[in-house]
Amino acid sequence: MSARPLPQLPLFAAGERAGEIAVRASPRARRLTVRVYPGGRVEVTVPRGTRPVEVQGFVGRHRDWIDARVRELSTHPLPAHEPLPARVALQAVGREVAVRYVERRRPGRRRLAPDLVEIYGSAGDAAGARRWLRAWLADEAEAELGPWLGRLAAERGFRYERLQVRRQRTRWGSCSRAGTISLNVSLLFQPPAVVRYLMLHELGHTRHMNHSARYWRLVASHEPDFRALDRELTGGWRHVPGWVYG
Ligand SMILES: [Zn+2]
Repeated sequence: MSARPLPQLPLFAAGERAGEIAVRASPRARRLTVRVYPGGRVEVTVPRGTRPVEVQGFVGRHRDWIDARVRELSTHPLPAHEPLPARVALQAVGREVAVRYVERRRPGRRRLAPDLVEIYGSAGDAAGARRWLRAWLADEAEAELGPWLGRLAAERGFRYERLQVRRQRTRWGSCSRAGTISLNVSLLFQPPAVVRYLMLHELGHTRHMNHSARYWRLVASHEPDFRALDRELTGGWRHVPGWVYG
């Protein structure tokens, strides 16, 4: 066997689980390469003698690509006939919401209480009902994530220009050079600590538009547990119900 693992990287633990990164030194490798396997396992192959700091830099530069591939490959296809939900748990804000489907000519949604929403439409139009559930989810995300991000930024001394709430399949959030932070509506299905970490992650990009060592030091100064939370977020798609993207 010629492959010999490098010492473990400070930022990532090697392993077989989705989102974790295994490093393999190969005598045949001429340069660093990265592959993401179905299920989300990430493997970086490096020439022998590559120093951990080089691997870390390589992973940092390709981090967005790696994250996007992991999310793609760890998402399971939706069951074709998933029933409409009677309850939706918004774990991020500790709320469980009952959903009532009411037959009405004019389709739509109405939030009757923090724990009750009505979805209107013709009986049997499951696709329409899912569309209005998504509209309701977007309302909730705007109402909950906006003020939360604002409070966190103020408390931690960050500034951003604008918040956009979006329903993306491959990203939890992003931050543009102009200071617009985008957050995924599906964050509502994640544990609060994970959402807070993602917010700090994006706020950190208002200072460093990269994943450099300085950037990670900044994130660590606000959230020392960022590695575990980042891994949790990578696997977070499994908490998202099928109707959100179906
Ligand atoms: Zn980032």
